[in-house]
Amino acid sequence: MEVLTHPDDLATRARNWQKEGLSIALVPTMGYYHAGHKDLIRHGRSVADRLVVSLFVNPAQFGPAEDLDAYPRDFEGDCAAARELGADALFAPRPEDLYKPDHAAWVEVPDMGAGLCGKSRPGHFRGVCTIVLKLLLLSRATLAVFGEKDWQQQAIIRRMCRDLNVPARIVSRPTVREADGLALSSRNVYLTADERAQAPHIYAGLRLAAAMVQDGERDGEKLRHAVLAYWARRLPAGRLDYLEIVDRDSLRPMREIAAPCVMACAARLGRARLIDNILLQP
Ligand code: AMP
Repeated sequence: MEVLTHPDDLATRARNWQKEGLSIALVPTMGYYHAGHKDLIRHGRSVADRLVVSLFVNPAQFGPAEDLDAYPRDFEGDCAAARELGADALFAPRPEDLYKPDHAAWVEVPDMGAGLCGKSRPGHFRGVCTIVLKLLLLSRATLAVFGEKDWQQQAIIRRMCRDLNVPARIVSRPTVREADGLALSSRNVYLTADERAQAPHIYAGLRLAAAMVQDGERDGEKLRHAVLAYWARRLPAGRLDYLEIVDRDSLRPMREIAAPCVMACAARLGRARLIDNILLQP
């Protein structure tokens, strides 16, 4: 596995692979790998001739009051994991090589990026779209792999690629969870023991809604209230950011569960802001 730090080096490598007719998978990450990242990397490895894993804590997607500096990092460990999982290249650029001081071009899907996480993280998805498009262009990816844990992110990236005719297939992988249901996240390291004990109730609440839908409930507000009541009892340390039911592709709010929808949430638990979602299937 090669470690590439300069964008030009990735561009050259990818151009040569493309000339040889090889397919290229891209797995964009911010590092501090857990089993969720590793699943994406393994999947990328299994579906393409060449695999590029990018490791970049993208400043453009963090707000001024967010955890950019505190974001957990483990370059050596991540490097070893990517190598072991068969990546051909680990792309770990310096921010200044991707964003020049006079960087002025941004990509966004404003309608889809304004709600859910976009409400409390203005500009976040503009930063995400911009970095992902850069990575897709540099790596000449045939396909790119994302996690369903960040449902809004993968939906926005799909739309960006469709609308801008980006020739990469977007693949999403199911959320990898701890045995107790908590979605794996690099930010779980921020949790105290007590917060960690409550955290699985985030997903347990979402599962409650999915079970109600299985039993015939179709009223979105009733589902939301049931989950909120559950959290009020079981997740006393949690501060809700949002809990919404949206169309799985367009992310438009849904009042009635007439077709498969996604129930998505974000909650703060101590220092961590955790997100999760579940598919509601009538
Ligand atoms: P991050 O490093 O947090 O930017 O995540 C990199 C990629 O891993 C994104 O596509 C995430 O959606 C995905 N990811 C993060 N957590 C999980 C998880 N628990 N299961 C599956 N994929 C995940």
